[in-house]
Amino acid sequence: MNNEMILILGAGGQIGTELTTELRKAYSDSQVIMADIRTPQGNIHQAGPFEIVNVMDKDALLQVVRKYKVTQIYHLAAILSATGEKDPQKAWSVNMDGLFNVIQLALQEGIKKVFWPSSIAVFGKRAPKRLTPQYTITDPQTIYGISKLAGERWCHYYYHNHGLDIRSLRYPGLISHVGAPGGGTTDYAVEIYYEALAHKKYSCFLKEDQMLPMMYMPDALRATLELMEAPAEKLRVHSSYNIGSMAFTPKTLAASIKKHIPDFEISYAPDQRQKIAQAWPGSIDDNYARVDWGWEPKYDLDAMTADMLENIAKKQG
Ligand code: NAD
Repeated sequence: MNNEMILILGAGGQIGTELTTELRKAYSDSQVIMADIRTPQGNIHQAGPFEIVNVMDKDALLQVVRKYKVTQIYHLAAILSATGEKDPQKAWSVNMDGLFNVIQLALQEGIKKVFWPSSIAVFGKRAPKRLTPQYTITDPQTIYGISKLAGERWCHYYYHNHGLDIRSLRYPGLISHVGAPGGGTTDYAVEIYYEALAHKKYSCFLKEDQMLPMMYMPDALRATLELMEAPAEKLRVHSSYNIGSMAFTPKTLAASIKKHIPDFEISYAPDQRQKIAQAWPGSIDDNYARVDWGWEPKYDLDAMTADMLENIAKKQG
């Protein structure tokens, strides 16, 4: 563990900033290299190594891997669902070529382990909505979902044909008070807390009864580290694991917030993101993850709401 050098690509994003902190706690500041196409907000990148790297640039990736003698890569750089629909070709090329570059480099340079996240966006409207199984119909509607599904197949292919230890989770919508969300369909579930505290009202871009699977960031980070530490022989899924935690609608989330801010008001103005959301699962069956590496979420909706409001209130002073 002490000899590991860990490269996080897309480290300046919503997940990357918090994953950097967690990995630096588990290893040390100098063993975790942040890399992104842009300089992250705040000063997190000053606590340890940071490099500007475009995942499309194979030579730049190779240089960073060799410079730091990287042993593990967390490849988070991507174009997310709502942003992807605005420029599908760019989303396809960043999401696919970026992953392919990382896979090629990992094989060439003998990287021990790679983490790459997939998403509930791999499922489409024909997949069962309730407790969507690990293996079921996958007919994604968005370029984001198409690229994640293709990526999962690349992971599976390179594990079976080249022995690459690449591990993956199908994250649900992730909610956090640290990094800002990056243009996904579940971003409302972060924005709503800020607006509730600042203005006691929020206009939601999804319908009131749109059920979606979600997870609080501390659970998502723990899931990621637990999967990466799990013994290889226990893992049966080499595409991407379903992981579940909570599932709720905007109306239920608003009710949870009202327990703390009774005069909070929510209104609804569904936009193009509603179309994306309605093709996604409502909840997730994560039995493979629970059996194979002991996955168990800790936060439910009310516990998350209490923690989000407390932390955002502190930030807002
Ligand atoms: P984000 O948009 O907040 O962060 C992505 C980061 O990648 C950004 O800092 C961006 O600057 C960087 N990036 C973009 N293009 C790049 C390039 N060409 N080279 C280098 N860096 C580049 O996204 P996030 O929410 O942190 O998501 C990280 C990963 O997790 C993505 O693969 C995403 O698909 C996946 N995921 C996220 C969620 C979620 O709810 N946040 C859910 C499911 C899956």
